[in-house]
Parts: sequence; C-alpha cells; structure tokens
Amino acid sequence: SCNRKFHPEDTIVDIAGKKIGGKHFQVIAGPCSVENEDQIIETAEAVKAAGATLLRGGAFKPRTSPYAFQGLHADGIELLLKAKKATGMPIVTEIMAIEHLDLFADVDLIQVGARNMQNFELLKALGHSDKPILLKRGLANTMEELLMSAEYIMAGGNNNVILCERGIRTFETKTRNTLDLAAVPLLSQMSHLPIVVDPSHATGIPTLVKPLSLAAIACGANALMIEVHNNPAKALSDGAQSLTPEQFRDVMDAVKKQAAFSGKE
Ligand code: PEP
Ligand code: MN
Repeated sequence: SCNRKFHPEDTIVDIAGKKIGGKHFQVIAGPCSVENEDQIIETAEAVKAAGATLLRGGAFKPRTSPYAFQGLHADGIELLLKAKKATGMPIVTEIMAIEHLDLFADVDLIQVGARNMQNFELLKALGHSDKPILLKRGLANTMEELLMSAEYIMAGGNNNVILCERGIRTFETKTRNTLDLAAVPLLSQMSHLPIVVDPSHATGIPTLVKPLSLAAIACGANALMIEVHNNPAKALSDGAQSLTPEQFRDVMDAVKKQAAFSGKE
C-alpha cells in the first residue's frame, strides 16, 4: 500500500542509478515530444549541461485533437535511446496502451499521463511490470483518486511508483492549469511515495517555471519535470510553455540553491 500508516519510511525509487525520494532530488527535463535526432540530442546535451539528470520526451502523445502531431511512436523511443547512449541520461516517456509495453523495455521510467490516470486496466498491467512508473495526477482528479490509482499499480506487486502533481483544472484561465502546491506536503503526509512537480504543464507559462519550481522544492518535492526545447518556436507540441536551454540554465541555477537549502542532494 502507498499509505504511510503501513510504511512510515520514505520510498526511494532508483531509476538507473538516479534516486528519487527522501533526500534524493532529481530534475527531469526535455521536450514535450521527440521530433527528430538533432532535436532530441541537442536538447538532451543542453539540459544535461545545465544539471538535469533524467531526459524526458514523448513518443506517444495524448493530443486533444486527432489532427495534431501524435508523436513518432516506436521511432521516437529509438531516438530517445540514442540520446540516452549519447548522454548517459536515463529516459522517461509516456505509455498510452499496454500493447506497446514491449517497446518500453529499455525505457528507465514509464510515464502514465494525466489522461490515463484512471485507465485501470493499464495501471493493473503496469503493476505486473518491474519498471518504475511516473503517475501523473488527472486533470480533474482528487488526491485520494491519485493515491487509489497508485494502489492499482502497487496491488500487482510494483512498488516503484512516483506521484506527479501537474496542475488541475479550476475556473482560472490565465494559467493552463492551477498548480496544487498544497498537494505536495499533503500527499507526502498521506503516502510514502516520492512526488514530482511539473510546473510546465501546471502553468503553460515559461516565466512561471522558476518561481513554482522553487516553491515546489520548499513544499518537499522530490523531483521536478520541466519541458525544454532547443527551439521552442518550432516545437511540434507545447512550444509555448517550453523553456529555451538558456532559460533552463537560469532556472537550474536557482533550483540547485533551493535544493541545497532544503537539504536535498
Ligand atoms: C506530458 O508530459 O507531455 C503530458 C502530456 O503531460 P500531462 O499528462 O500531465 O498532460
Ligand atoms: Mn507536454
């Protein structure tokens, strides 16, 4: 169970040697979508140089419109593996259907996106895998529902679950979503699982990524997930919220100080 009552110690999830949980803190960065070899390698090298420790990139994209870019699918995962080889960074990418699981054999951390947080058959199947899972909170799901979805994975025997607060739908329209910062300390009181905050999807606004990253660390986040693109203006998805490598370096300077201040390593 993810309940802290039955397991008082913090769970630490090891992702190819990068630990998330307890005092272990990581920054996951990369583009929304993998687009081509130059884009993912250039972005990977830039985020690594700035201090990110895991590389993200979508290959199967849950787009609102079926006419929008859907991702490169298996080719996208191949390109991520090339970037992993080039940089040594573990990779994170989203799964949308359990039939694709074989393609994820060399993926280090499998993301379940907000739109699939309650795809219970997918969660059950991932519970029988031994891969670390990044479980994002649904667009309009409560903390209790997020924890129950984590239970679905853990009930199958997979305890390597990381929760992600990525913003929720509210009446506010200035930001893409509303970052529920209170969920970070509250989830960590209720559960021993590590918590990642995604300020990119939570706000949709590049200039909000730094202040909310710092606030997330102050609230006890065990990792951040930030969208970065080597050329956001040309991105095939979420360009408007993606940081340039230069903006990401500036965020990382502040993040490193805040993490050290908060006793993270
Ligand atoms: C993403 O990480 O690119 C993504 C689609 O996120 P979410 O599921 O939180 O919307
Ligand atoms: Mn995105």
